[in-house]
Amino acid sequence: MLTADDLAFDRQHIWHPYTSMIDPLPCYPVVTADRCTLTLADGTQLTEGMSSWWAAIHGYNHPRLNQAMVRQISHMSHVMFGGITHPAAVSLCRKLVDMSPEGLDKVFLADSGSVAVEVAMKMAIQYYSGDTRPRRKFLTIRQGYHGDTFAAMSVCDPENSMHALWKGYLPEHMFVAAPATGFDHPWQEEDIAEMQQMLAAHHQQLAAVILEPIVQGAGGMRFYHPNYLRRVRQLCDQFGVLLIADEIATGFGRTGRLFACQHAEISPDIMCLGKGLTGGTMTLSATLATSAVAEKISNSPAGCFMHGPTFMGNPLACAVACESLSILAEGHWQRQVKEIEQLLTEQLQPLKDCPRVADVRVLGAIGVIECHHPVRMAEIQQFFVSQGVWIRPFGRLIYLMPPYIIRPEELSRLTTAISLAVRQDNLFAMPD
Ligand SMILES: *Cc1c(COP(=O)(O)O)cnc(C)c1O
Repeated sequence: MLTADDLAFDRQHIWHPYTSMIDPLPCYPVVTADRCTLTLADGTQLTEGMSSWWAAIHGYNHPRLNQAMVRQISHMSHVMFGGITHPAAVSLCRKLVDMSPEGLDKVFLADSGSVAVEVAMKMAIQYYSGDTRPRRKFLTIRQGYHGDTFAAMSVCDPENSMHALWKGYLPEHMFVAAPATGFDHPWQEEDIAEMQQMLAAHHQQLAAVILEPIVQGAGGMRFYHPNYLRRVRQLCDQFGVLLIADEIATGFGRTGRLFACQHAEISPDIMCLGKGLTGGTMTLSATLATSAVAEKISNSPAGCFMHGPTFMGNPLACAVACESLSILAEGHWQRQVKEIEQLLTEQLQPLKDCPRVADVRVLGAIGVIECHHPVRMAEIQQFFVSQGVWIRPFGRLIYLMPPYIIRPEELSRLTTAISLAVRQDNLFAMPD
């Protein structure tokens, strides 16, 4: 249980994501989570619209995920991965190799999404390290998000992640405008022109193009055309530059395909996975690479890939990830995501007519309301809690990515709360 004293301690001593220590935004005390419901200390129940940041794809307190962890604990929670292997890691990596896009045969396990991106970028640099001209630059698209560690941050949108703040410390990479053609809009070939020019001009310096396939998540919740991704793959082949797909948010069915790369029928050279990998229970990530990448790295001057975190291949996380992938393999997610997509489309599209709303976008189990003005965070959060839902907007974006198991009436509660919110002036920061 959480007392008033506990909450006061939290305010005074505990950092929360992107929140001031002198004037923190309110925090809601959650004591249990079950299926699609969070229960607060005072008994208030909230319907979950965020899947705990894309992670809890099967909902909370899933009996099979719980059992997988209990089973693994009774064998071992952790053992080092240097010189040791174990059944949970082998089963998980076997599944990942089988289910991932073709050619991604080598798996590196790490602790979080940001570290998976660090690993991918180190792989790309090491890949060229034995060449006469080593390559140190990355090319990416604006409005991207790849994590909060330094290398990951260096390829995030320069404005959203305040590159100016880190100037002189953060490596400087190359950016092109975010793709303009929406997911289901008619493809415009000129959309790829800047990417093509940059690759033509700089490919000898470029270790890789890194991007989020199809859905740009935390950098703007934008959905772009599969042809863009297809053309990037062709251009990377043409100019001999690696392609890194950051599927940390999009992987495991969220966009309607198991991996977003499959919308464009491409395979990247390196792919990052995280978030939903353990069904939202434990922190774990995986960076997959082709045999060609792994072999060239292993033939490079270092003789091996230079990375090895303490908790690499944590058995407990691997065991629960394995069970989460087994649930996905049964295939129900396809119908569930399709139904969520249908309901989100029916219930959110009418908000296009609301004067506060600039755009409504739905893809798979993701629904986005882009507003003209930024939300007032504390006020809108309190409003949503008063409506019995957990939705956490940022900037001008109110969005939903519910657990796949959500019921239609729960989903309606979420969309109803949003349609009420966008009609309330006091929840938005209006220009004076
Ligand atoms: C969340 C996210 C990351 C970072 O993952 P963490 O586990 O928060 O470090 C990286 N890339 C994408 C696309 C993400 O959505």
